[in-house]
Amino acid sequence: MNFLIFLGEISFFILIGFFLVFNLYNHKEKEEKAFRSSLLILLGLISVNVFFLIMPGLLRNLLFLTVFLATFAAFFIMYFSSKPSGNIEFIGEKKKVDERDTIFARFELKEKGKNYNDYYNRRPEYKATDDEIRKLPDILEPEHMKKDPVLFSLTAAEDDYLKHHIKLVSGDVTLDKIELSPFDNTRTVKNIVKYLGSDICGVCELDQTYVYSHVGRGPEPYGMEIELKHKYAIVFAMEMDIEMIATSPKPPVIVETEKKYVEIAKISVIVADLIRRMGYDARAHIAGSNYQAMLAPLGWRAGLGEIGRIGILITEKYGPRVRLGLITTNLPLTPDSSKTFGVQDFCQKCKKCANNCPAQAIPYGDKTEEKGVLKWVLNREGCYRFWRKAGTDCAMCLYVCPYSKPQNWFHDSLRKLISQSSTAQRVSLWADDYFYGANPLPKEPPF
Ligand code: SF4
Ligand code: SF4
Repeated sequence: MNFLIFLGEISFFILIGFFLVFNLYNHKEKEEKAFRSSLLILLGLISVNVFFLIMPGLLRNLLFLTVFLATFAAFFIMYFSSKPSGNIEFIGEKKKVDERDTIFARFELKEKGKNYNDYYNRRPEYKATDDEIRKLPDILEPEHMKKDPVLFSLTAAEDDYLKHHIKLVSGDVTLDKIELSPFDNTRTVKNIVKYLGSDICGVCELDQTYVYSHVGRGPEPYGMEIELKHKYAIVFAMEMDIEMIATSPKPPVIVETEKKYVEIAKISVIVADLIRRMGYDARAHIAGSNYQAMLAPLGWRAGLGEIGRIGILITEKYGPRVRLGLITTNLPLTPDSSKTFGVQDFCQKCKKCANNCPAQAIPYGDKTEEKGVLKWVLNREGCYRFWRKAGTDCAMCLYVCPYSKPQNWFHDSLRKLISQSSTAQRVSLWADDYFYGANPLPKEPPF
């Protein structure tokens, strides 16, 4: 074998190896379209390689040299292209959010009741839209339940379980302090949170901007001013099952959402209790619902991910396909730093969630200012209206997001690559549409 053929064969080896691995993962992940497309490319590459080998001498050498130079140039451009940049930007006075303004708090108001009247007197701008959405059957109402009585009943059971555990989120500190260094406290708590089932865990100082101003849901009196003086936030994430999410917008999505909330509640309640037994105040914030602070921005501050176009946290390993948990505490801890891994640039180019949102609730354009933060602002009413029509939460945006691919060696390497190279981001966007489809179809439920 001469030197030029050797160089060309290295390129073919890398390309064929890549598509072989990709094809095997597609088979494992039941990605039929990607499986067929990658198999075609794989067979094409093998055929071209054989075709080149049977070409006469000089032409064969030239073809192999061309393949080598093209592969080398592609790697060179990918490696030396600019690194994606961008971070969350604050452009004005940071303002707290009133939990009463959140969608779920608004739709818990009893029509024509005192809180309802008080709220819409203060916030008349929401009333017409909210009343129009109220005419649609609520998520677990009989009209939806009859579409899949078993799975919707499972959701209702998960939801009941959560509601019964709200009383466990806080308690008195009765024991003497166990004195460990902040570093040891942090390591211990993170290890325990992960041992109990979380996939990622981080710590940040509790920025009061992200503490709700007033109670909008939960056991505390509606409208009560929130005083959450804990110094630290422990934020963790649990991966959502991709097969359940891929049925979007069908009942398995809401079953999986509630399942993760139940698991998160278990971890949060136990860890908050543990910290109180170590002699420091702590409170779990769980769905059901009794959050006193906003999870996504705290998750960003704790280094779990970045906020993307979709308006929620995009983690490095699982993309937005996670649910978040939160414990606030005075236990001395060592905060993590927020991270950037190219999400702002990627979302600027991508828009796949916006293209696939059945409610057209995700913005296509640039970020806008909300409460002093420059971000993509979701049409929350549009999103929730669709949930009430579908009878389940939707998660189509989570399913189609390129960052949501399964967590394994192959996809992790690609996620790493797009965090380092703007060219790799462009190529991966094109590849995601080509292999998985620009508008991926929902899949059959796993059970
Ligand atoms: S959950 Fe569904 S409706 Fe809501 S923003 Fe995502 S894709 Fe759109
Ligand atoms: S689908 Fe694309 S634009 Fe939307 S959040 Fe994911 S990466 Fe960003």
